[in-house]
Amino acid sequence: MVCLGGGGDPLDREKQVDEYELRRVLHGMLEGFDIRPPFDAAVLCERLAWARGREIRLIARDLPSPAVFGCLVPMLTKDLIIYPEQAAQPHRQHIIFHEVVHLIRRHVSTGGAGELLMCGQLPDGCAGAEHRQTLYDHWKEWEAEAGATMLTEWSKKRSRLILTRNHLSRPGNFHLR
Ligand SMILES: [Zn+2]
Repeated sequence: MVCLGGGGDPLDREKQVDEYELRRVLHGMLEGFDIRPPFDAAVLCERLAWARGREIRLIARDLPSPAVFGCLVPMLTKDLIIYPEQAAQPHRQHIIFHEVVHLIRRHVSTGGAGELLMCGQLPDGCAGAEHRQTLYDHWKEWEAEAGATMLTEWSKKRSRLILTRNHLSRPGNFHLR
């Protein structure tokens, strides 16, 4: 099994976690991947793909409704994350993080089951409306959105320059943490 760090089994499927546990799992994953802020979603996808042994392909598309902000499409040997091509960079990052949390938490079957996850809200009568979900309607959507918010926050953090008394007495000697 692939260990994503953080202890326990973060890949347990169909088991809801609370905010504390979600934070612990995601933080453990970042540590396990040696990812430090600032980072972007593409780097996280790269490391996650390596750990899972499955390609994650990020694809920009004109999605069927403005209310659909992202799709996760598991295929036989890879997973597609589709985001709206018109999405601005910060929103795009958040969308990708959201779909990544669905993957990490094993919210969909992979390996060619053909289960498609559309995230957002579709108006009645729109193609795909049978998959309609409103954020927070479902615990999986809650986990994905809460997790995406945590990853977005962490991704923007800046490394802090730490100066100690010892360092101050020796010009040029400092380290980043
Ligand atoms: Zn979702």
